[in-house]
Amino acid sequence: MPGVSVKATYAETIRLVSLRPELSAFGPFDCNASAAAVGVRHVPAVSLLKEFDAPSHPDTAPLVAAVIAMATDACWRRTYSESEVGRDFLDRYGYFELVGPRGHFHSVSTRAYIGFWDAGLHYPWHVHEAEELYFVLAGEAKFQAKGQETAVLGPGDSRFHVANQPHAMTTGQGPVLTLVLWRGVGADCLPRMGHR
Ligand code: ZN
Repeated sequence: MPGVSVKATYAETIRLVSLRPELSAFGPFDCNASAAAVGVRHVPAVSLLKEFDAPSHPDTAPLVAAVIAMATDACWRRTYSESEVGRDFLDRYGYFELVGPRGHFHSVSTRAYIGFWDAGLHYPWHVHEAEELYFVLAGEAKFQAKGQETAVLGPGDSRFHVANQPHAMTTGQGPVLTLVLWRGVGADCLPRMGHR
């Protein structure tokens, strides 16, 4: 059975999706996914997230608190290799699948991830076929996407990426914590670096 913090993170994500039209409009969010035994996997960034205190938004604050509480119970992943992003990036970033085929809550219709990047990191240009919605829970980052204005997004801001739209992200003075939703063709595939 999932711990209290894991269940709270799912419950607060459902609450946030119901609060924010840009999230609910992305597609039906699976509110009845069953808890899965995905295990616990740590990355170095967990210790950074435990000290996370970047500003949030009234809508996102409960989820931010739940994610921080869940950090030591999550199955963290890092998609990239050291040759692609460098050791410092790998040591200060991480994400986990909250809802999805390999998520803490199993669903085939919804893919929801929590992603963390510490201050001063550049997430290089990359691409994937799945459509994507970034929603900033706390902190801020500069979002770049081909064909779109570059924007610094803060708590409660979102950014949609169409299929195969190259994009990049850079954090500034502080870290950023995001909720990321995927949908459509290619949702089972990992992002690929490059394609600027
Ligand atoms: Zn992406």
